Amino acid sequence: MKLKSLWAVALLVGAVSVGAAEAKKAKAPKPYPLETCLVSGEKLGSMGEAFVFEHDGREVMLCCKSCKKDFDRDTKKLVAKFDEASKKVKKYPLKTCLMSGEPVAEDGPAAVFKEQEFRFCCKDCKANFAKDPAKIAAKLPKAKS
Ligand SMILES: [Zn+2]
Ligand SMILES: [Zn+2]
Repeated sequence: MKLKSLWAVALLVGAVSVGAAEAKKAKAPKPYPLETCLVSGEKLGSMGEAFVFEHDGREVMLCCKSCKKDFDRDTKKLVAKFDEASKKVKKYPLKTCLMSGEPVAEDGPAAVFKEQEFRFCCKDCKANFAKDPAKIAAKLPKAKS
């Protein structure tokens, strides 16, 4: 009897942790709030394609892969810098994706351009936005009215 209830607990714990992992996977990371490398302060893209990775629910962008070592060494301070910069970011004012006109996903893909947040219906729209953010961002004031 005791063994049986232990099994039930084990199964329950297993089910809960699978559910949590799935929920975590569905949630997109917090978009990177700066246009410069979190470590070096260099303009992103100036050293070739930015090095992008996820850390603790945040999308981090660095100017190059070698800055990752410094990020790992000084993670706490750099995460604080990320969060400080995120506070300045203006919330996306629309309920629809500027790329497609589809509703934006709750906790879905997002990006920041010039301290303005943009939210998207899907990852593809985020990727397309990144190709020419200035052009899409220019549509925002018109879309608001
Ligand atoms: Zn770098
Ligand atoms: Zn989309």
